[in-house]
Amino acid sequence: MSEVLVVIDHADGEVKKPTYELLTLARRLGEPSAVFFGSPDQASAVAEKVKAYGAEKVYVVGDAEIRGYLVAPKAEALGQLVAQAQPAAVLLPSTFENKEVAGRLAIKIESGLITDAVDVEEGGVTTQSVFAGNYTVRAKVTRGTPIITVKPNSAAPEQAAGAGAVEAFAATISEAAKTAQVVASQPRQSTGRPELTEAAIVVSGGRGTGGNFEPIEQFADSLGAAVGASRAAVDSGWMPHAFQVGQTGKTVSPQLYVANGISGAIQHRAGMQTSKTIVAVNKDEEAPIFELVDFGVVGDLHTILPKATEEITKR
Ligand code: FAD
Repeated sequence: MSEVLVVIDHADGEVKKPTYELLTLARRLGEPSAVFFGSPDQASAVAEKVKAYGAEKVYVVGDAEIRGYLVAPKAEALGQLVAQAQPAAVLLPSTFENKEVAGRLAIKIESGLITDAVDVEEGGVTTQSVFAGNYTVRAKVTRGTPIITVKPNSAAPEQAAGAGAVEAFAATISEAAKTAQVVASQPRQSTGRPELTEAAIVVSGGRGTGGNFEPIEQFADSLGAAVGASRAAVDSGWMPHAFQVGQTGKTVSPQLYVANGISGAIQHRAGMQTSKTIVAVNKDEEAPIFELVDFGVVGDLHTILPKATEEITKR
């Protein structure tokens, strides 16, 4: 069975959930091998985690040549690994960085690339939501080694025993790939909540909050959810842009999306309509968001959300 490379998404060795989702999807295409860009000291702990989701091998690309640079060295290293391993496909979690790595890799190895897939079937057919969510497209790479970036929450992670054999991969990074260097980075202040694009539950607020996000945040905390916002809320200065969901914000695909005081404009839908279950609270029963929902509540979010929070907190 051919190998399928899965690039591990991690924060300083802490493996993130999308990696397990991709390892689960990779098993439909072949035998998963994980690729770890990071410190070799963390490799065995990382291998322990990913082998529980079927990773047979864990290629470790040491960070000595990678750390401190932007994406070009990663793309170069992956290109060399693809040449050596001849995988059936390369899967990457859809982050801004990985999408750039994937694009550069596709050019280097002259392969087709599919970004932001929400499903990958046996045989390599993927599902994507395109043109601001107006079309659902099933597509397949027909040239070279398929490179596919997959949105978080596209699959439920399923455990499967793999060997998790750690293998150092010595990539040769060219000087050209090192021309863009990181001179400073600033970690985003932690909210203590899950990361928006990875969260299983997202609770969002729009103009209907009137700028008071307290009911949204308290409801989100009762569910262990991430907080999101519409552009109207962001443009009003009520929430930072990092919270914006939609065409010009982040794309989320959680198990549950709760839209509060959000009308459901097409540009907002583009960022959330692949959510598995959608609930809306809106005081206007004609609001377009209700065309999209699985459950709708007509009413004032400032009354409904505190009640819901109280009920959930009691349990
Ligand atoms: P509104 O459309 O004003 O809706 C507010 C809703 O709140 C109404 O339905 C109202 O009935 C309800 N409401 C009011 N008070 C209450 C209450 N007390 N309780 C319950 N409900 C209440 N938008 C995005 O969100 N994300 C994007 O990324 C994005 N990108 C864009 C890109 C472009 C190029 C353009 C042109 C627009 C973009 N927009 C985006 C803007 C988008 O078109 C809408 O203007 C925006 O989504 C509206 O936000 P909203 O639903 O919060 O506000």
